[in-house]
Amino acid sequence: MAGAAHALLAAVEAVLPPQRPLPLHEPTFSARERAYVVDCVETGWVSSVGAYVDRFERELAEICGVKRAIAVVNGTAALHVCLLLSGVRPGDEVIAPSFTFVATANAIAYCGALPHFVDIDAERLALSPTALAARLDAVAERRGGSVVNRETGRPIRAVVVMHAFGHPADIDGLRDVCDVWGLPLVEDAAESLGSSQDGRPLGGDGLCAALSFNGNKVVTTGGGGAVLSNDVGLAARAKHLTTTARVADGWNFVHDEVGYNYRMPNLNAALGCAQLEALPGFLLAKRALARRYADAIDGLSGVGFIAEPAGCQSNYWLCAARFDDRGERDRFLALSNEAGLMTRPPWRPMHQLPMFETCAKGDLSQTVRAAETVVNLPSTPGLAGEVA
Ligand SMILES: *Cc1c(COP(=O)(O)O)cnc(C)c1O
Repeated sequence: MAGAAHALLAAVEAVLPPQRPLPLHEPTFSARERAYVVDCVETGWVSSVGAYVDRFERELAEICGVKRAIAVVNGTAALHVCLLLSGVRPGDEVIAPSFTFVATANAIAYCGALPHFVDIDAERLALSPTALAARLDAVAERRGGSVVNRETGRPIRAVVVMHAFGHPADIDGLRDVCDVWGLPLVEDAAESLGSSQDGRPLGGDGLCAALSFNGNKVVTTGGGGAVLSNDVGLAARAKHLTTTARVADGWNFVHDEVGYNYRMPNLNAALGCAQLEALPGFLLAKRALARRYADAIDGLSGVGFIAEPAGCQSNYWLCAARFDDRGERDRFLALSNEAGLMTRPPWRPMHQLPMFETCAKGDLSQTVRAAETVVNLPSTPGLAGEVA
């Protein structure tokens, strides 16, 4: 096991170009982004409505194989809206992974609800159907029309799955468990645009899904997000909630509930339209990079490349390796960053953050293990050669 850190560093150095420092993930732009953004500025359509927003929503829905996409200001806002659409109310619990970016848990808190953490499976690094079923069997019971955590007395209102680093969760397994309990499944697909399972793009298997177009994601709008749903009525409700709940009434300002100013500006959508045209090329380039990492890392001892699960296509948003030993992982982080290669550990698990440490939770041993042994590698699309 000794030496895995040095071995991985040599393998990674052999794959990557010599440029240092080398960031973890950078946006890739062409003349198209510039042209679309300039078009907004020249026509004056920069703000909350415009043709690029409509086009971006249409194209996203098509790429993700869903009926509707609603563009919003960021992925966290998209998650917030997904939870509201799922009926999450103050005092509820929402089952979520602890192995995730803080936005997943924060969005639950924005609803006045509490996350209830369930473990991931070691292979996919996403919410485990087995752990979910076991946890519900251990603490949940049906009362009236609700599922209630009998230890806290709070209703469990929804389940959120996050497709970590772009690798698809076991969505069929999770949906089966959710169906047994009658719980809505929300997909935090912030990292997984372009990933698919059995040929189905992610984002259409639950009640609704959230995407992110932050600057470090596969496709960026500067900042942005989207809500996806196959339920047209639910999508209309998402549009209403994210546009200040304004009712059509000529020039009058009439609003029928507390809504949110969550809409994506046209300027950002213009950038997004250009990026969606580039997405197929980004995905090919990222697969090529993942292939090269896998070839360089497979065969090392004490560390392995994290590949897409069988039957799945990952977008390989962030390529990742896993060490057998935490000490070697930490040594690799230090060595690589000193050498100007930006590598990062996963997020500190949510149940270890001060604002969520008292939340309900099941056994989280795989979460803790992954947080201690996984490392993300530089993953910008062009690193293994030209982007088509
Ligand atoms: C990026 C991300 C989000 C949303 O992020 P925004 O910066 O608000 O767009 C949510 N969940 C996960 C897992 C993410 O990686």
